[in-house]
Order: sequence, then structure tokens, then C-alpha cells
Amino acid sequence: MDFLKPRYTPMNRRRRIYEGKAKVLYEGPEPGTLIQHFKDDATAFNAKKHEVIDGKGVLNNRISEYLFQHLNDIGVPTHFIRRLNMREQLIREVEIIPLEIVVRNVAAGSLAQRLGLEEGTQLPRSIIEFYYKNDALNDPMVSEEHITAFGWATPQEIDDIMALAIRVNDFLSGLFLGVGIRLVDFKMEAGRLWEGDMMRIVVADEISPDSCRLWDIKSQDKLDKDRFRRDLGGLIEAYSEVARRLGILGENENIQATGPRLVQ
Ligand code: UDP
Repeated sequence: MDFLKPRYTPMNRRRRIYEGKAKVLYEGPEPGTLIQHFKDDATAFNAKKHEVIDGKGVLNNRISEYLFQHLNDIGVPTHFIRRLNMREQLIREVEIIPLEIVVRNVAAGSLAQRLGLEEGTQLPRSIIEFYYKNDALNDPMVSEEHITAFGWATPQEIDDIMALAIRVNDFLSGLFLGVGIRLVDFKMEAGRLWEGDMMRIVVADEISPDSCRLWDIKSQDKLDKDRFRRDLGGLIEAYSEVARRLGILGENENIQATGPRLVQ
């Protein structure tokens, strides 16, 4: 009856499709699927700063699962199918659009610097920005003109992406506000999901404290990757606090950092 047993593919024998700074993509169990593996690596300033932080991948996998599942549930399409284990999730294979889509509610980071705004200033309205995903060029900011002229996305796709970004921002802002956290800004990615001849734009990649700025409403404490970028320490504690408030981690539970690890 051996044929009834699920086929076991050791992690290091799966076909690796892509390795990024914080994640690895493997071939999925069925055509059109991939496995997204969250590593413990933290990078900033275009990978000039790099550290391995035990347990970060486990937390981001759980937090991103929670956010993507809720987005799916309210009808915002994403690539997420389900979480597989501590560090991995099953996703739909999409054609990634080479843009980082940043939505901002409050001035911080590069916007505060570029326009000389004080960090923490509420913006007159939410602002969407596009950056061209290209490490060699340091992800330069681009306009809709560049995006359409160079064919990275069509005008219709840009409209779809902006509509998605606004829905994601509204949902996340409300969700985090409910647990005493201010969503200052976040980065999302979008992909083309093909279903036969039909294509739609879906939210892809991850949404986690690595890609959001999350400030505690009362203390203004940073509960995101700025703890790493700005050498503030306590990154795992901050990410765990986000997970706890979302009800992913129990009150006195700590993340088990010693889950399955990436076999290099
Ligand atoms: N961000 C990201 N990946 C990047 C650049 C930015 O996830 O490669 C996120 C970042 O965490 C923040 C938002 O996008 O939540 C806006 O980042 P900003 O442009 O202020 O750049 P930074 O100050 O992070 O360099």
C-alpha cells in the first residue's frame, strides 16, 4: 500500500526556483503552485547590512499568513493558498510585476527625508508610490509614465494595482488600529495570476513587520524592521508583540526559533 503514502520530498531536493534576501521559492506540489520559505535573514540598505535573527522567518510566515488569509476572506485576491509548516506556505505562481508599491499614511523613512517632513506627521491623504525593483539601481522611485513607457505594467494594470493597494491599506489600517497599532506605511507587491486565458492582478510576496512600519499607538514604539535598520534591538520581541496582538501567539507564548531550517 506504499502508493497511498504521501510522497515525501526532502527539503534540499526540491527544485529551487528563486532565492531572495529573506525568502526562497521552491517548486510546488502541483503545476501553478510554489512553496514560499521564510528565512531568518534580515537585510537593509540594499543588503549592505545583513544579520540572521533566529525566529524572524517563523514569525513573518505566521503574520503574513494571517494577513493574506484575511485579505482572501474579504475578497481581496492574493497569491496565498495555505500555510504548510513553521516556515513555509503554499502560494499560487504569479508573474511578479517588477514594482514595489508603497502606501503611506504617515510621513516616515525615505519620504520624511526626501521632502523634509518630520517623522510622524499625518499625511493629508494616503499616498501611493512606485519603485522599480532593481537591486543594482537601488530600487529607484518611478512614475506611472516610466511604468507604462517601459512596459512594466499597462495603464489598466496600474489602475488595478492602485485599487488593490487602497483596499489593502484600508483593511490593514483598521485591523492594526483595533489592536493599538498605527500603520504608518507598507510595501506590497503585485502579480499577474493566469487562469486559462483570464488574467487578474493579485497581491503577492509577503506583508509582515519586515515590509510595514507599525507604531504602538500609546508609546509610539516601533514594532517593525526599523528596529534592525536603526539598531534599536528587540526585533523578535517587537514582531512577537505584533503576533500576540493579532491573536496568533498566546499571551505568554514565545516563538520556537528551532523549527525546520533551510538546508543550504
Ligand atoms: N519597504 C520594503 N522594502 C523595500 C523598501 C521599503 O518593505 O525594499 C517598506 C518599508 O518597510 C516601509 C515602506 O516600504 O514600510 C516605505 O519605505 P521607505 O521608502 O520609507 O524606505 P526605507 O526608509 O525603508 O528605506
